[in-house]
Amino acid sequence: MNVLTTVRHRLGWKLALSYLIVIAVAVLVMATAAQFHTTEALNHHMATMQALAGDDPAMQQELERSFHAAVNEILLVAAVAAVLAAFTVSLFTARRIVGPIREMLSASRHIAAGHYRQRVEVPGEDELSELAASFNVMAAALDSTEQRRLTLVGDLAHELRTPLANIRATMEGLTDGVLAPEADMFLEVERETARLQRLVGDLEELSRAEAGEITLSRQDIDLLVLIRSVAERLRPQFLDKDVALALDLPAQLAPVYVDPARITQVLINLLGNALQYTPAGGSVTVRAWHDGPRALVAVADTGIGLSAGDLAHVFERFYRVDKSRSRPGGGSGIGLTVSQHLVEAHGGRLWVASPGADLGSTFSFFLPLAT
Ligand code: ADP
Repeated sequence: MNVLTTVRHRLGWKLALSYLIVIAVAVLVMATAAQFHTTEALNHHMATMQALAGDDPAMQQELERSFHAAVNEILLVAAVAAVLAAFTVSLFTARRIVGPIREMLSASRHIAAGHYRQRVEVPGEDELSELAASFNVMAAALDSTEQRRLTLVGDLAHELRTPLANIRATMEGLTDGVLAPEADMFLEVERETARLQRLVGDLEELSRAEAGEITLSRQDIDLLVLIRSVAERLRPQFLDKDVALALDLPAQLAPVYVDPARITQVLINLLGNALQYTPAGGSVTVRAWHDGPRALVAVADTGIGLSAGDLAHVFERFYRVDKSRSRPGGGSGIGLTVSQHLVEAHGGRLWVASPGADLGSTFSFFLPLAT
């Protein structure tokens, strides 16, 4: 019972047992074959010896028995050698296979306990090494998510502290009569409350997007109408900052089957970012065209651009190139993550290209055309 339990729970023993079963079957087959074939083989190959032994039946019987005994002895020696070889080979194979698996098992337990820095090392190029490599990729992804989560908690605390402190100071000033109850004071409180609301809204949106809980009410939509309306909505802010906003649109575009509110949200995020990361005097251009079964939109700016290192991360949640917490009006690195989820929920894709820092960036997405 104990042996059975050990075998059931140990891959190394299972391997050894499988080798032994193969050997046992081979020996059984050889023994059976030998049993039936020995006499014939003896007659066939030992004709000369039989001639020497003459017609004495006792002598012939003795010769046949000896031959059987010799065959059995050889089989026994071969079986013992095979069992020893099986043990040696299975020991080596088990070490090669079970070792890395044990290492990954212990690493995964460490990770489950929150030690995200844990990695495994499996040299070679076989499936186990590939498994170890993807295990490490998974561990690295968990590690960076955890790091960003920790940063976010700090960032959120800071983002919440500033408006709350402002609101409290204003309200205290008003209550104590230090501040006169003028419109400016109330506007200040309203602005700070709006900032808090925006942050909470972003977080709710992110958690819904990541949980795949976004519901789309799709209809055939003219993408050009959406682009023009978002551009008109944001134009005053572009004018305020002295950033030119240009639309390079075709006269017509086949309709897309999308949720207009969600695609508007994506356009606002991309145009809002382009405005925020483009200094005064720069420009932002929105292009749209179609290519086969897809409609494409590109928002190109002449702003601060993105380095190759940042390009790979901008869609990750909570990722901000400028990590300084003193940025006025900056977001929390959630907008692009949500936009990417929204575009993908429509069966599209969102990506970014930038020749480098200070050389502008272009965020593009495609959406499938309505059928
Ligand atoms: P945020 O609310 O911080 O803007 P996003 O998810 O929209 O969050 O963007 C993530 C980060 O990507 C930004 O903090 C910024 O560093 C970078 N980014 C986004 N759009 C642009 C752009 N047009 N030009 C340069 N950097 C950008």
